[in-house]
Amino acid sequence: MSALQQPPASPTCDVIIVAAGRGQRFSASGDAPKQYAMLGGETVLRRSIHAFLGHNAIRSVLAVIHADDRALFDAATTGLKLRPAVMGGATRQESVRNGLEALAQDSPSWVLIHDAARPSVDKALIDRVMDGLRHAPGVIPALPVADTLKRIDASGVVNATVPRDALMRAQTPQGFHFDKILAAHRAAALALTDDAAVLEHAGGRVLTVAGAEGNFKITTAEDLMRMEQTMLETRTGQGFDVHRFTAGDHVMLCGVRVPHSQTLLGHSDADVALHAATDAILGAIGAGDIGAHFPPSDPAYKNAPSDKFLARAMQLLRARGGALTHLDITIICEKPKVSPHREAMVARVAAIAGVDASRLSVKATTTEGLGFTGRSEGIAAQAVATVRVPAQN
Ligand code: MG
Repeated sequence: MSALQQPPASPTCDVIIVAAGRGQRFSASGDAPKQYAMLGGETVLRRSIHAFLGHNAIRSVLAVIHADDRALFDAATTGLKLRPAVMGGATRQESVRNGLEALAQDSPSWVLIHDAARPSVDKALIDRVMDGLRHAPGVIPALPVADTLKRIDASGVVNATVPRDALMRAQTPQGFHFDKILAAHRAAALALTDDAAVLEHAGGRVLTVAGAEGNFKITTAEDLMRMEQTMLETRTGQGFDVHRFTAGDHVMLCGVRVPHSQTLLGHSDADVALHAATDAILGAIGAGDIGAHFPPSDPAYKNAPSDKFLARAMQLLRARGGALTHLDITIICEKPKVSPHREAMVARVAAIAGVDASRLSVKATTTEGLGFTGRSEGIAAQAVATVRVPAQN
């Protein structure tokens, strides 16, 4: 670069999230429109907004919402730094125009317009659209059509097979030079299905960049379920615990009272198996350990049944949109004999965790008389939890 050439000024880019739709085809969440449905512990809308707020080249994010959704919107966006929401119009086109008019005072170089119902948009896709804006006033992510297309008549009979080579499926975010799309929206007299069409109609050039299959739009309850599946990842966690014997007449193992000539010493009921299980689940979601959640110094847990520890770990797992796939517990001791109680233990853990017994395993082993368990000084337990949780990027 010569001394006379200036590096290109970095363009300012704002984002409009279109969240004013009523979603007639969606009914999974009762009356709430799809953008306010929960997806992996967060609303669809919040996830969509997050993708842009986390991008360092985005200056601000503005949502266009339906007037009836004010309370839903406020709840869904608590703590997020957004522009004041703008009320939508009677059509999507009108809603977008309202958003553009609200941004006009700050005249961004570029604007990205995104459907709230596409929560899986990622940084790479946003980057592709923004890169494209260096070459054209309009850029859309698009994907090829895989299925054969048929033109049909009113009774559903095929008239023709449509060549698909030159057809693409348009996604969002659609990116535009702000002045061009604002002028095109102001001039648009027709009802058009997306913002690129508005620019096309005004004679603007629209470039396509590669879309992403995962960036599909949630239109039906089935779409929401499909999105949930694609977002889940499998994780494992392990837990280990030991309690020593002291004078007594029973031990608690997996929430079951097992008669024995001694008991286990502990601040709570010393259910070594439930403690290991709790730590395994906490480990799988990176939520610390049992001691951090239930400090032994806290008198509230004195002689407490350990059920509440496992129940709390399950609650944390579910709060993250996760589910327990499997929990495998091994109790290590010479005595008492576990096998007569195994079935009751599985049933008890299933009840505490709120999962089907088929997702649980309780087994026992000795250490052949070796070590502290061999000398019957105490009982050890270990557990491995397999969970499915929404991936966090
Ligand atoms: Mg313990």
